[in-house]
Amino acid sequence: MTPGSRTSPSGTSRSSQLYERARQIIPGGVSSPVRAFTAVGGTPRFIERGQGPLLWDVDGNEYIDFVMSWGPLIHGHAFPPVVRAVAEAAASGTSFGAPTKREVRLAELIVDAVPSAEMVRFVSSGTEATMSAIRLARGWTARDKIVKFAGNYHGHADSLLAQAGSGALTLGVPSSPGVPAGTACDTLVAEYNDPDSLCALFDKHGADIAAVIMEPFAGNMGVVSPDPDFLEAIRRLTSDHGALFICDEVITGFRVALGGAQSVLDLDPDITTLGKILGGGLPIGAFAGSSDVMRHIAPDGPVYQAGTLSGNPISTAAGIANIEPLHQPTFYEHLKSLTDRLAIGLTEAAGTSNIPVTVNVQTGMLTVFFTNGPVRDLHSARESDTGHFARFFHAMLENGVYIPPSQFEAWMLSSSHTEELIDRTIEAAWEAFRELAA
Ligand SMILES: *Cc1c(COP(=O)(O)O)cnc(C)c1O
Repeated sequence: MTPGSRTSPSGTSRSSQLYERARQIIPGGVSSPVRAFTAVGGTPRFIERGQGPLLWDVDGNEYIDFVMSWGPLIHGHAFPPVVRAVAEAAASGTSFGAPTKREVRLAELIVDAVPSAEMVRFVSSGTEATMSAIRLARGWTARDKIVKFAGNYHGHADSLLAQAGSGALTLGVPSSPGVPAGTACDTLVAEYNDPDSLCALFDKHGADIAAVIMEPFAGNMGVVSPDPDFLEAIRRLTSDHGALFICDEVITGFRVALGGAQSVLDLDPDITTLGKILGGGLPIGAFAGSSDVMRHIAPDGPVYQAGTLSGNPISTAAGIANIEPLHQPTFYEHLKSLTDRLAIGLTEAAGTSNIPVTVNVQTGMLTVFFTNGPVRDLHSARESDTGHFARFFHAMLENGVYIPPSQFEAWMLSSSHTEELIDRTIEAAWEAFRELAA
């Protein structure tokens, strides 16, 4: 059996027809590469609608969704407070290019929740947030070089594409044509969870390094957790050398805890980047930090940054409606118990098949790696058998479970995933592993 050779119960003919049309006029038929199913083969499903944890494609197939728009939908699809907030905001005007009350409210929610955030600037995507954070760090330090970690993804800005995980990894493109050599040479790459590799870069380039950017819990080579000594080394080396520490919480912000990974891991970054959950499915991003550093941004300071639609009324309305309910005292306990239930069930299902699998899990996110593990960096993530993953992916899809179409991504959970749906997912996995072992 080759991936994608089977058809869903209700077929995929409408998705196939749309895919054909799309490929004539949109490169790869998609607006973002991983959606094209390149890593797993087969026909990408064109989605008609979502409700809570469920998704329906244009052929009428129903799926339990663990992509969740790649993270933003912490309450599931069409969350009523977000839908209401968006409709109300839109009726009063979609954009003004002038300040609004909602921006102030959303910024206050961020500053209250995220330990290191004293001031916030809104942008329209996670890519813009990291790109702007890098510019701010370069402006603040008057240095050009930045350090990132292999397998971490920070959006598609030129200086951050070196050895990025996620889509770039899925497609086997380590970097990208079109990134000027002059830009690429200012990006230094260290190994995740390897303090020595970071130390070596600082020994050689310490006086030129503006910032170290990292994913506190990696999600874009699949879920990988940081060792305490690795985190300690990042903070110590940046402080000692006068560089800034940028914590990219575009995935982990409001997911692993209300205060993000930095509140769980007790981190003290200089700049934090946010996106995804911050907009509840609408386009938004933000970067935040100490007042000192943030006042370096125009018009308070000299580092230019701007956006026609930045902080627009609909995205900020959606963001407020998405984040306020996260203050419920048991929200993250509940999300964690659902995620753990799924991780344990998947591990058991794999165990009976003798197929080597490692499940890495954090609150609200997990990855099933097809390798014995442990998976703790890009090198060990790439030990995964992507052929096994592709077959597993299609078996799950056939059984009505929509997981990310790449080994190197995180499954995203929401508070709308009931225990019953988690158990149905585990049953689907038992069947998928049985087929794989056969
Ligand atoms: C998704 C992501 C980004 C980029 O955000 P976009 O909104 O896709 O531009 C940046 N950093 C991390 C950690 C991400 O997961």
